[in-house]
Amino acid sequence: MTKPLTTTNHVDNRAATASRRAISLTDLWFTYYNGTTAVRGVSLDIRKGEFFGLLGPNGAGKTTLIKTLVTLLKPTTGHVTVNGVDAVEQPVAVRNSVGYTAQDTSVDPELTARENLQYACKMYRVPQVERADRIADLLQLVGLEDVADARADTFSGGMRKRLDIATSLVHRPPLVFLDEPTNGLDPAARLRLWEHLREINAQGTTVFLTTQYLEEADHLCNRLAVIADGELIARGSPAELKQQVGGDTLEITLQTTTPTDVARARRAVLESDHLGEDAHVGLTQDGLVISSPRTRQIGTKVLVALEERDLSVTQFNIRSPTLDDVFLTLTGETFDETHQEKATLSSTEHVNEEVNT
Ligand code: ADP
Repeated sequence: MTKPLTTTNHVDNRAATASRRAISLTDLWFTYYNGTTAVRGVSLDIRKGEFFGLLGPNGAGKTTLIKTLVTLLKPTTGHVTVNGVDAVEQPVAVRNSVGYTAQDTSVDPELTARENLQYACKMYRVPQVERADRIADLLQLVGLEDVADARADTFSGGMRKRLDIATSLVHRPPLVFLDEPTNGLDPAARLRLWEHLREINAQGTTVFLTTQYLEEADHLCNRLAVIADGELIARGSPAELKQQVGGDTLEITLQTTTPTDVARARRAVLESDHLGEDAHVGLTQDGLVISSPRTRQIGTKVLVALEERDLSVTQFNIRSPTLDDVFLTLTGETFDETHQEKATLSSTEHVNEEVNT
């Protein structure tokens, strides 16, 4: 006989689900004093142990969202729970249960790596007897054991970033927030940092990372959300998101790549009857990119349409979709296009942040 589902079971199930969640956001909105609404109705659940990526162009709302999660900003409306604790009601408890690496490093350049970690241990009140071992483990985790006693001002940008991340882990938080950790690093330093981030996650820490790099999100994260203009416009694993494109991508290199010619080429493709409603055309550095479920069928026709308008194609390539193509499908623009527009718009200084104490 089937056992009836009792109220107690419902409560138990809810409690079990809640205990598996590292973060729960419900209809979060954030508006700055100057009226800019940076986060618009975001709802999101992140499970413990995930390597989660929030991907979006400059000015999309990533930092604002992360600051509400680490309680530096108080939501205008909405509900934020971190490690099972309400972030508005108990900000101190939330801060004690997370690590946070902001975009600007907080490493003291005049101290050695070890001294920076000792200072962080003091701040987080790590018991004296545990400090030496914990510092040794963290230096190893971020690959700085050989330079433990060198001053941080002799370190490269990548080394400082790794030290900064280590300082945010001294109190062994189950959840760590990293705001664009690889920004400004050269490709080799970025790859190195990726290895350490993977290792941190492999040791059981939930990672919440923001990034403007599609490639980074693709490599590191097992789940992603894409944010644009403060709204989450997609979420899923990198593979699930790529499936949304539904077909291959055609990359076209044009002989002349002046903005006028590339814009003319885009119009020519859009005005040709070959695309269908489900195709998207974006601009790249040297031509166009077209995402469509029927790329292979329409490819040649598109090339002919361009030649007919005296727009010579020097190269074309059909490939599997990337996250960049997902962005194009979702927003109608390539990531680079949106990125450049946003960078221009958000180049003004902001001073009036609200601090949640
Ligand atoms: P991202 O981290 O994705 O680059 P941000 O969260 O920094 O985006 O910014 C989101 C929006 O909020 C942008 O329009 C930005 O100009 C605006 N903004 C950020 N900080 C402030 C502030 N202190 N005061 C007013 N507007 C701000």
